[in-house]
Amino acid sequence: MTGDDLREKFLSYFEGRDHKVVKSSSLVPDDDPTLLFTNAGMVQFKRTFLGEEKRSYRRAASSQKCVRAGGKHNDLENVGHTGRHHTFFEMLGNFSFGDYFKKGAIELAWELMTGDYGLPEEKLWVSVYEKDDEAHRLWADLTSMPEERIVRLGEKDNFWAMGDTGPCGPCSEILIDQGEGVGCGRPSCKVGCDCDRYLELWNLVFMEFNRDQSGRMTPLPKPSIDTGMGLERIAAVVQGCTSNYETDLFMPIIKEIESLCGHNFGASSATDIPIKVIADHSRAAAFLVGGGVLPSNEGRGYVLRRILRRAIRYGRTLGLTRPFLYLTAGKVSRVMQKPYPELLEADAYIKNIIKGEEERFLGTLDTGLRVLEEELSGLRDKGITDIPGALIFKMYDTYGFPVDLIQDIVREQKMSLDMTGFDEAMREQREKSRTQTVAYPTGSPYGGLSAQGVGTEFVGYHRTSMVSEVLMVVADGEAVDRAGEGDTIEVVTAKTPFYGEAGGQVGDRGRISGQNFEMEVLNTIKDPNAIIIHRGKVIRGSISPGESVTLTVDAGRRRAIESNHTATHILHAVLRGVLGDHVKQSGSLVAPDRLRFDFTHFAAVDDETLQEIENLVNDRIQENVSVQVAEMDADEAFKTGAVALFEEKYGDRVRLVEVEGFSRELCGGTHTDRTGEIGLFKIVSEGAVAAGVRRIEALTGKAALAYVQQASRTLDTLAQMLKTKPEELPERLQKVLSQLKSADKELAAFKAKAAAKASDQLLAEVKHVDGVSVLAQEVSVDTPAALRDMADHLRDKLKSGIVVLGSRTPEKALLIAVVTRDHQKKYHAGQIVKQVAAMVGGGGGGRPDMAQAGGTKPEKLPEALASVFDIIAKAG
Ligand SMILES: [Zn+2]
Ligand SMILES: [Zn+2]
Repeated sequence: MTGDDLREKFLSYFEGRDHKVVKSSSLVPDDDPTLLFTNAGMVQFKRTFLGEEKRSYRRAASSQKCVRAGGKHNDLENVGHTGRHHTFFEMLGNFSFGDYFKKGAIELAWELMTGDYGLPEEKLWVSVYEKDDEAHRLWADLTSMPEERIVRLGEKDNFWAMGDTGPCGPCSEILIDQGEGVGCGRPSCKVGCDCDRYLELWNLVFMEFNRDQSGRMTPLPKPSIDTGMGLERIAAVVQGCTSNYETDLFMPIIKEIESLCGHNFGASSATDIPIKVIADHSRAAAFLVGGGVLPSNEGRGYVLRRILRRAIRYGRTLGLTRPFLYLTAGKVSRVMQKPYPELLEADAYIKNIIKGEEERFLGTLDTGLRVLEEELSGLRDKGITDIPGALIFKMYDTYGFPVDLIQDIVREQKMSLDMTGFDEAMREQREKSRTQTVAYPTGSPYGGLSAQGVGTEFVGYHRTSMVSEVLMVVADGEAVDRAGEGDTIEVVTAKTPFYGEAGGQVGDRGRISGQNFEMEVLNTIKDPNAIIIHRGKVIRGSISPGESVTLTVDAGRRRAIESNHTATHILHAVLRGVLGDHVKQSGSLVAPDRLRFDFTHFAAVDDETLQEIENLVNDRIQENVSVQVAEMDADEAFKTGAVALFEEKYGDRVRLVEVEGFSRELCGGTHTDRTGEIGLFKIVSEGAVAAGVRRIEALTGKAALAYVQQASRTLDTLAQMLKTKPEELPERLQKVLSQLKSADKELAAFKAKAAAKASDQLLAEVKHVDGVSVLAQEVSVDTPAALRDMADHLRDKLKSGIVVLGSRTPEKALLIAVVTRDHQKKYHAGQIVKQVAAMVGGGGGGRPDMAQAGGTKPEKLPEALASVFDIIAKAG
């Protein structure tokens, strides 16, 4: 059975037992910005398990794409050194939402394992939680499993919890005994040993309790089932392989690596480790890039970058010094095309992104490795085994070496890394860059405020007007005691309802007024320390620090901005739903008059799809669901701890903005209370901004209405002009255009005929000079090309002789002279035209057979043409 067969069989087995087969959810969780990557099958059902979301089915099965890298449990550095650790893997799972429980789960699992999957019963073992007598009894009663192969294990191995609080319960695992040969050989070796002999295949979680803050567990009213089995592992067992890498899920990728580097898999562990690393990382890279993640220095993008750079470094040990990973990742798209056809569709894009990162990193890798080697040997000479934080930081900062890459390099050398020192160096650098950016935007006056611990409190989420105290007035980049009428200034207050430009949302406008003061605020910005700065012009009176002022935001403009911002979130979610998981926001602009949304996607969005997207956004608006905002500590939001890695922008508190049951995003912007306030959503354009990045521009509310009205007026006008109804315009216009086309054709034919006739008439004007036929005439054509065509035509008719033609516009004269071959010994077209042109105030010349010229005195043309006969007579 191939990997594809096993996946297929799993899903059809459960489908035949009343389970709804659900597609794998995105690797980047749709509605959970706090989770780094989807890491289990249950992630997309989390809210269903918690009872927050209802589904139309109570049993489900899926094969889920998972990535485990970069989180708290970071296995990255083990990948390649074992046959079982992966960054990317697929998890097969069946789920019951308050439907069947332990009995059903055990029966279903046993039947599949010993039936369709055909595993030998005598090699299977089972573990249960030590206090779970019920599960123990069910295994003994319902299956042919002998009691001595049902093992009780403790909380560490067999108790599962979603988090510190929430659903939890015992679990039960099915294991296979791979035989003594695979084991550690210790007499104590048994189920639960950390060697490979008793391999865990399938984990059944019995969600039975709800744990509260105090740690007390109460039974859930509707206990549920969540199970997970790694596809790569079951494939290895069924295919009789000792490592997952030997299965058909990996071998085609490994073959590709072998052909690129010339080393054979299995030849030596020195080359096997890099081959395994590259095979594994190629899969993760293809799926992550295909899932919309781009390599960067923060969050998910940094995890991807670490994976890519680790693979590139290992490639170097195989002699791969030019980009190669894009090719092995391209192989992944082909191996996975049956279950994940979208990967192959994005093939060119995926290769492009990966190749770009390879080229970037290869530029510094060699130098970096050399520098590191020198430094390390210096340390070894001194007997130092702890690599200083400053060196780790230098490698990170200057050469782009992620920490785990250094870890890999020194793995064999028994050296350790001073991570405390590294963190310290990192913190110092951040501090430095922070003090450097404080100078922005107009000098240092605001830095002084921050240094005193003074900040601005933004209170504009719920109100647009308030009274506050002026903390600072700045003119020409310096803090001043007073500013008066006509001055362009910046004002900082203790509190403000004005939103400072951030996260794509433009700054507010409005007024600040006092007893003897009025200022028009033209823009509001934020300095890096989150001090909110009002920029504008004093239109009356004067202002000084310490005064009390009323701040009033232009509320109509703000409402328009909010409509566009909430619409942006809805659009983002709809795009992911319609176009696929790879869609990720890569930029946005939220202004009062329009919104702009940039996203990762590989091809133009066709008109039909665009219409569907527009409809779905409008459906959401018409449902008029609420927009909820939850504020929480960053620590609480980023439970995985890793999303926050290198992400400075979120600060200590984060806001989670939820369009009810549809979209959840971390966002500091302002939003409508309900989606209905957006009114109408209209896309006005879709296009490319960069390779793999598309842009949609759209309007909402009144602006959208005005746009539609304008379009409709234009149609009415056009319809009137064409004397038809707007809906019949295309047909009518088609008709007019085809009439025009046939009229054009007719006209061209007529013109050609007329021209031929006219030139034939001209032949009557031929005179004879010294036995040579000479034609010198003025004609009416308006381009040199047309003049040449006519001269050619006349020469052909004349067969032997000289043709000189002239034409004129109000500004200039055009001339051409043509001499047939038999007269070229005596007469030179270039010489003739030169003399004629001189008479119309111009010059020119050319070849003996044909020459063109022009002049600036068109009124002299008849005279000049009349002189042609004399010129020819003299030349003869
Ligand atoms: Zn063992
Ligand atoms: Zn937002």
